[in-house]
Amino acid sequence: MRWSGKLTNVGRRRTVPGSAPHRVNGIAAAGAAALFVTAGAACADVVPDPPLDCPQCADWNRTPRAFRVYGNTYYVGTSELSAILIATDAGLILIDGALPQTAPLIDTNLRALGFDVGDVRLILNSHAHHDHVGGLAVIQRASDARVAASPSSAAALRSGRPTPDDPQATSASFPSLADVDEIADRDTLSLGTFRITAHFTPGHTPGGTTWTWTSCEDARCLDVVFADSLNAVSMNGFRFTGDASHPSLVDVFRRSIRRVEELPCAILLSPHAGFFRMEDKLHRREAGERAAFIDEGACRAYAAAASRRLDERIADELKASP
Ligand SMILES: [Zn+2]
Repeated sequence: MRWSGKLTNVGRRRTVPGSAPHRVNGIAAAGAAALFVTAGAACADVVPDPPLDCPQCADWNRTPRAFRVYGNTYYVGTSELSAILIATDAGLILIDGALPQTAPLIDTNLRALGFDVGDVRLILNSHAHHDHVGGLAVIQRASDARVAASPSSAAALRSGRPTPDDPQATSASFPSLADVDEIADRDTLSLGTFRITAHFTPGHTPGGTTWTWTSCEDARCLDVVFADSLNAVSMNGFRFTGDASHPSLVDVFRRSIRRVEELPCAILLSPHAGFFRMEDKLHRREAGERAAFIDEGACRAYAAAASRRLDERIADELKASP
């Protein structure tokens, strides 16, 4: 199935007849009780996939972090790998699921914040690499949430591995997802009254997607950007400047960087916590700086750093040209 334009009535893929309506903490369930149906248990069961073994996996998965970023936007990943939760008036949205072994931590993080993984209605992702989508299959099974992705990311999610045209095509596989709906660039997806917009930002992967939405605290609404990785990194031998097997990706990559640079942006989030200095901002906020996560220049700085890395990468490739 392919969605174009607005997505309405995002709900679980199957309903469980006869079970009791379930109220989600922190979410007004009025008028949406039919959506809050669980399988009779208080909380959904999270049955993890086998852990992935990779050089950084243990470090990246060591320290769970669960906190409210702003308004209805929460961080539910680890100190290194992001998972973002948005609580809407019609259920939860999860963006990214880190490693397969992160899924139980995400579940624990949700519970710590008063949410239930069974109330996830929509699963989105930044890009289909093992360290960002590895935990999504578990969450999909536990929640029956819809999964929406760019066509290229959808292909990767269904197959459980990066697409052949991915600069890191040989990187680790991950648990595949059963049903993935394809969206188009600039689609705005709806869940209840909440809206989230997809911006395709290919470069790091062919299907990379940046997500934007608005979160409010009292009357103050801020633009939140979950900017995909814009890192020009690849497996050995791949050339962003192109070769006999594929054309140059440089223009495509630069367009993606410019697109993130130009987004309305008060709060920057990204797939690796270090990319938006999450730990630093969290510590500053805990030390009393209430607005530590608010930075109107964060997307421009993120794009500038990506642009410098791409320039360096291009120079290296041209130097290595035969
Ligand atoms: Zn990646």
